Amino acid sequence: MKVLIAVTEAIPYAKTGGLADVAGSLFNELRGLGIDARLFMPLYRGIKKNFRLELAGPRIKVQLGGRRYQSRIFTHEGRAYFVECNEFFDRREIYGTALGEYEDNALRFIFFSKAVLEACEALEFVPDIINANDWQTGLIPLYIKTTHRDRFSKTSSLLTIHNVGYQGIFPPSAMALTGLPTEMFNPDEIEFYGKINLLKAGIISADAINTVSYSYSREIMEKEFGYGLHGVLKKRKGEITGILNGIDYNEWSPAGDEFTPQQFSADDLSGKRACKEILARKAAFKDRNAPIAGMVTRLVTQKGIELLLEALEDILSTGMNVIVLGKGDDRYQRKLREFSRTHRGRYFLHIGYDEALAHLIYAGSDIFLIPSRYEPCGLTQMIAMKYGAVPVARSTGGIVDTVDDFYHLDGNGTGFLFAGYDPSAFLECIKRALCVYSCDSKWEPLMMRCMEKDFSWKNSARRYEALYRKLLRKG
Ligand code: ADP
Repeated sequence: MKVLIAVTEAIPYAKTGGLADVAGSLFNELRGLGIDARLFMPLYRGIKKNFRLELAGPRIKVQLGGRRYQSRIFTHEGRAYFVECNEFFDRREIYGTALGEYEDNALRFIFFSKAVLEACEALEFVPDIINANDWQTGLIPLYIKTTHRDRFSKTSSLLTIHNVGYQGIFPPSAMALTGLPTEMFNPDEIEFYGKINLLKAGIISADAINTVSYSYSREIMEKEFGYGLHGVLKKRKGEITGILNGIDYNEWSPAGDEFTPQQFSADDLSGKRACKEILARKAAFKDRNAPIAGMVTRLVTQKGIELLLEALEDILSTGMNVIVLGKGDDRYQRKLREFSRTHRGRYFLHIGYDEALAHLIYAGSDIFLIPSRYEPCGLTQMIAMKYGAVPVARSTGGIVDTVDDFYHLDGNGTGFLFAGYDPSAFLECIKRALCVYSCDSKWEPLMMRCMEKDFSWKNSARRYEALYRKLLRKG
């Protein structure tokens, strides 16, 4: 079975968030299962710099509105393919800066979606399945049913929605760039309140759709979570499934972590204590024995940063130390920085993307905070659990599928959950966690249960394989 994964970030090539972990890990697992999976991504600046690439196939031409772009395809080890267009992708960031998204994102990702299909022809690669991911590649399922139908008549498509909050909504003028018939600009197809919506293009046309957890696959059909697409999604209810993301334990394992100063396992937690000590020193926490709550996150509304900001003063007055690593919206960065000035010694903030510090935070924290407004799957709670950092999280989406509340399970859970999106519910939940933390005979078994949880990719990759095979039969 030949599977093409079209995606705009994947480890180890480029990463801004969980999508990269998911795409990269799934890709590797599928290949491990003997599937001829190939990854297609834009050729970003960092990839050119850090990987030895080879030219693959002849040049391709991509028509966008009135302009024709020439592009080369490169490959890394004959499995990952990269579409070159320096004008679009030779930039510092992938999607935009702290001030906002790049203004030409419609152009950039419509180009990429078309280029992937042109590249297939140039490479004489006819996939059985194209697995598109999120809005950036939402046009691909539609292209293979319309403009590219002849060449891809035997190819089925799966659209994986990692986050329905990001839809690729652009002015109607972007319609001309797509090359699709203008009649498709109507509310039953890709029009969305007078604009075009690239995720919607994928939703209406993909042979199947999946999200990254079961709970989220149900939530997106509700008004609260669907971001205006709940109705369109409901129409495709029968084709929507949820497959929980896994964790790549080669990267995320406290017993073999190259980034952390000490390793540890459920059998010997002395390394965790050492990591906590080092983290506390790095953060210059005054009370080195106080519990540490960590957070590693994009600083965006989805992640509940308002809740954190509103509750932070009270959280710190519980005596707990808080460390936040994040990058994102300027307004959140500024507000979080203001706290650093006034709460030195109890609160530590690092703005930026820092892999090594992320590992140290997972390893050194006692508690991990995830107050998300919504969470399609969420990887950080699964990573935190592996490192014995107990999640305090809002019960939404993938959190519901991965964390069991301690109190609801009579002391047998794997974390602490709160439901209401308000700072007092968050604070109360933290206090419940601290209450258990203060009792070693309860906290240690809780940590053990977290560390023993198995969220490895194997199961998830098998479920993707099964879904692909089902689509094959359909095709
Ligand atoms: P999302 O994909 O919505 O950002 P996930 O929980 O699915 O959230 O995945 C987030 C991933 O990105 C995790 O691997 C997390 O460790 C990592 N991450 C997020 N922000 C940072 C950061 N500032 N520095 C390092 N890693 C980060």
